[in-house]
Amino acid sequence: MQKPETSKSADLGGGAAPSSKRVCILTFGCQMNEADSEGIAAAFRRRGYTLTDELKKADAVVVNTCTVRQKAEDKAISQIGRLRVWKEKKPEGKVFVVGCAAQKLGEKYLKGRFDFVNEVVGARAIERFEDSLIRQLGPAPEGEAQHQNLYRSPQTAYTTIMRGCSLKCSYCIVPAVRGPAVCLSPKAVLEDAAAKLKAGAKEIVLLGQTVNSYKYGKTTFSELLRKALRLPGLERLRFMSPHPLYYDAAFMKVLEEEPKLARHMHLPVQSGSDRILKAMRRGYTRGQYLDLLARLRKAAPGLAVSTDFIVGYPGETRKDFQDTLKLVREGGFSLAYCFKYSPRTDRPEMAADISEKEMEARLEELLSAVKENSRLVLNGRIGKIVEVLFETENYGRSSENFAVRVKAGGAPGSLSKVLVESAEKNTLNGNTQ
Ligand code: SAM
Ligand code: SF4
Repeated sequence: MQKPETSKSADLGGGAAPSSKRVCILTFGCQMNEADSEGIAAAFRRRGYTLTDELKKADAVVVNTCTVRQKAEDKAISQIGRLRVWKEKKPEGKVFVVGCAAQKLGEKYLKGRFDFVNEVVGARAIERFEDSLIRQLGPAPEGEAQHQNLYRSPQTAYTTIMRGCSLKCSYCIVPAVRGPAVCLSPKAVLEDAAAKLKAGAKEIVLLGQTVNSYKYGKTTFSELLRKALRLPGLERLRFMSPHPLYYDAAFMKVLEEEPKLARHMHLPVQSGSDRILKAMRRGYTRGQYLDLLARLRKAAPGLAVSTDFIVGYPGETRKDFQDTLKLVREGGFSLAYCFKYSPRTDRPEMAADISEKEMEARLEELLSAVKENSRLVLNGRIGKIVEVLFETENYGRSSENFAVRVKAGGAPGSLSKVLVESAEKNTLNGNTQ
């Protein structure tokens, strides 16, 4: 699956009082950005703002940007450009540009190019967004705004457990824009998750760029998981994105012993070629990655694994690419996000060295291999029982992160066993048991 570089607007504000002000939050990029946008939304709500996805009704706009690939950065920049007309019609309206592209491009550049932007807050300063709000709108009255999910179903909430990344994958801009890894204290993590469960979430997704490298004082990732799994009201715990380097025996034990820990892992591999993995500085070989998958699947039979691939990394030969294609079937991935390599530096050795046509052809070939493999994986679940957390009466997600549809019998927010009877596209169909 090719991940679209689109923005998601936050619109669960419903029922705004006619006099209240509105904020439109446009979020580009990953779940970390979505989690940051939820924090920003809460800061606005404390000031009496409601959310809207209709720009013309907004009194303030936040563009939460991404720069992981050039295309994502370009989209965010065009979005900011389009706000010029909005600001001309609403000169008192406030524009906030935040996140990873804001960090990379900087305030001087962004305010120079877009003179209507009020505040620029880079990814490294996102926790100080409140300071910008105070400058523009004044302090908020005392009290917390209750958590509201904006990007997932009401059942699923994000909790960020670490920011930044201390690895140095050669293609990746994240460490430069988000800085080195910093872990939040277990107390802060557990309080955040508990508040979200209290507000109605049933499932928590712990977030971090190398989430399983979490360590705070003596608390390891596995210990944090065990504590989170005991939170009242929690039905299911997920995390993303783990890195192959940080799995240990203690984690395997948690996976074996804790049924509430989701039977799904999004474990980006990036390439199936040892030569390219080494050039990418991923720290593992194809064989080590496959061995890890086998150990994970032994600890949690039925575990579904999804991944990310990059095609067209500098020096990737047809043979390297064939190794990636072969890995799709060998890895048994339920889903894979596939990206064309996007240079994030001007260094000549990091420029793409195959034509755009060849890049596109490899992407297409990989996408069809992924699609065919996903079909096999989904068909392999027919006749099996999956545990579904329902979002509506007819739809929910299984522990393996499959979309599941039933004709009847689901109850939003509840867990039920479903016997899978058929599979189509990315969805399993079945009956509640
Ligand atoms: N921290 C995660 C990890 O290491 O697995 C990944 C985070 S990154 C924001 C998400 C995905 O973007 C990566 O897994 C990779 O496939 C893709 N990506 C990162 N840099 C890229 C680049 N320069 N060009 C194309 N895709 C890229
Ligand atoms: Fe980027 Fe992930 Fe590698 Fe960190 S681990 S540098 S976020 S791809």
